[in-house]
Amino acid sequence: MTVPAMRLLIVEDDPVLADGLVRSLRSSDYAVDCATDGGEADLILSAGTYDLVILDLGLPRLDGYEVLRRLRRRGSRTPVLILTALDSLEDRVKGLDLGADDYLTKPFDLPELEARVRALIRRGQSGGGSLLTHGALTLDTAGRRVLLDGEPLELSAREIGVLEVLMLRSGRVVNKDQLAEELYGWDEEVSANAIEVYVHRLRRKLEPAGVTIRTIRGLGYLLEKPAHDGNLS
Ligand code: CA
Repeated sequence: MTVPAMRLLIVEDDPVLADGLVRSLRSSDYAVDCATDGGEADLILSAGTYDLVILDLGLPRLDGYEVLRRLRRRGSRTPVLILTALDSLEDRVKGLDLGADDYLTKPFDLPELEARVRALIRRGQSGGGSLLTHGALTLDTAGRRVLLDGEPLELSAREIGVLEVLMLRSGRVVNKDQLAEELYGWDEEVSANAIEVYVHRLRRKLEPAGVTIRTIRGLGYLLEKPAHDGNLS
């Protein structure tokens, strides 16, 4: 009986601690990836799905709070365990307010960490990601896939990212800067052309189904509210 391994992402810039965590969790049969700064973590989390994120707060490039804020803004409900040397009540509250699920202060023992990891994964499995809907379109934020009338639609990870931002703000104008910010790491060159290309491709794939992305000249893009969205409210 093979059960697919649970996937964990560790975000920790202290190499000794990161290495110890990776080893210990791998020996407990988790599939473990590691990011050593916040920008890298943000990119990895935009593209992939994890069962749990273990997140340090003090990180280069993008701090842990910002990584968490972006993750939740994308609609992800992946459980997040914050790991930090900061131990003020204020820090705890801030982390939990931003959507962290648990909090462990350094130094900690590995058995305690592992117990918390198991508990969070159990909780996460009963919850799952969120589904965004827009007319006939459904976007599964955890599984990173899109269905049109229940049929899978072939979209790249970036196209799904653009669509997700537009769906989250359906009926409102989203400018290119906002899209770029959601899609790219902090230090990456942001290209307005790239955004135009993704929107163009999305239009080609979605317009036959009556889903319209309007260009509001000088302002940005707007995903039009569906003509009928299946309920009478
Ligand atoms: Ca740190």
